[in-house]
Amino acid sequence: MRIGLEIHVQLPTRSKMFCSCPTDGGPPNSAVCPTCLGMPGSRPTLNRAALEMGLRLAKLFDCQVPERTWFARKTYFYPDLAKHYQVTQHDNPVGEHGAFDFRGKEVRIRRVHLEEDPGSIRRAGRPGEELSLVDYNRSGMPLVEIVTEPDLSSPAEARQFLSDMLTEIRHTIGLSGEGEQTVRADCNISVGEERVEVKNVTGLKNMERALKYEAVRQTKMLRSRRPVLRETRRYDEERKVTVAVRKKEFEEDYGYIGEPDLGVFHIRAMAEELENKETPLERARRLELQYGLAESTARQLVNTSMRLCDLFERMAADLGAKVALNVTGQVSGPWFHVKDSFDQSMEDAVFEAAEEFWRDGITDSELTIRLSKILGTHVTVEETLGLDVEDSSVKDRIGLNEAVEKAVEENPGIFEDYAKNERAANRLIGEVKKSTGGTFSSQEIVAAVKARLSQGP
Ligand SMILES: [Zn+2]
Repeated sequence: MRIGLEIHVQLPTRSKMFCSCPTDGGPPNSAVCPTCLGMPGSRPTLNRAALEMGLRLAKLFDCQVPERTWFARKTYFYPDLAKHYQVTQHDNPVGEHGAFDFRGKEVRIRRVHLEEDPGSIRRAGRPGEELSLVDYNRSGMPLVEIVTEPDLSSPAEARQFLSDMLTEIRHTIGLSGEGEQTVRADCNISVGEERVEVKNVTGLKNMERALKYEAVRQTKMLRSRRPVLRETRRYDEERKVTVAVRKKEFEEDYGYIGEPDLGVFHIRAMAEELENKETPLERARRLELQYGLAESTARQLVNTSMRLCDLFERMAADLGAKVALNVTGQVSGPWFHVKDSFDQSMEDAVFEAAEEFWRDGITDSELTIRLSKILGTHVTVEETLGLDVEDSSVKDRIGLNEAVEKAVEENPGIFEDYAKNERAANRLIGEVKKSTGGTFSSQEIVAAVKARLSQGP
């Protein structure tokens, strides 16, 4: 089985690709101008930030960057495309012939190119009276497309690969948000000779499902000696099947012509000047080598937060990797709750506690208590300050906290037990459940008990 991906990621620029319309949306058709509506006489200008991001990604994947690049018009007719052509790159894209080291396996990158997004179409109305509404806010949004060679060999591998790749892409171009909705992929998959393309799949989970479905469908076809057609399909998210859309068109059907309004860009020198920072996966590899961390630990660390890695490395330099890992491990537990308030003074306090532990000034469980105080207390203070007592959900939370406090008082040894084994929390959770009689969900109770226990006595 051979799988190749065409990955589309929206670039996080403030304005669109070829005009100054904002990229942060608004009501339908509010962020538009003559250029992104393709009015006659309008002239596009290339967004430099988008070009730089494209070049950064080309470098990330070790692509060859040509001396000159230009854009092309890809002609097709569809209501979401006001100009009847999409401005994209055909010859001389910003990067070609690259590779991505996917957990020791080289996946070749055929090309990296820039293009504009078309508008979006929404269907409305009752069956039989449907309307198609077009929103051109998306028209002209900057996209990068990354095309891989068919080097992936299973749907699960494709998902892993895309997930790794997105980690690196996000970091390199400063794309925020964990939402996987930001990625759209066209997936090529062939079980036998003929290749099928599943267009426009959104998110990692859907991509894996679409590929799995397609793998099974093609295998069945081949077993029963029916031909697999070279065609384009789409993934129906509700029915979880792929559906034939049309026979695959060939590239020449689009009648590419050069875009004369934009001109030619000299990009090699520009690319050479751009320097990418160390990416999360590069850092994970370095942490493995430099400090002898297990691969899974190193990955977990970079995936949790680069800030946490900074803390780890600061401690590792002075106190050794073992102590650093112990402390980082304890900080990473509640990291999700403390990350926004984790400032330099907290980091210094953690470092001090770690140093004392390293000098044998405090024991392991004393260290745990110190750390929970540094992390937990801080959160609680912030939360308490922000309480709006008129808000009923806050009142409820106070009720829950009171119940937790009561359970803590009735179990004097609980902090010591919890420090030894986190499962000790279950005892309190059970008691709070009983005493509050179903007012709060298990999730709420578990969170409240854990938050309280991590604060220490
Ligand atoms: Zn515009």
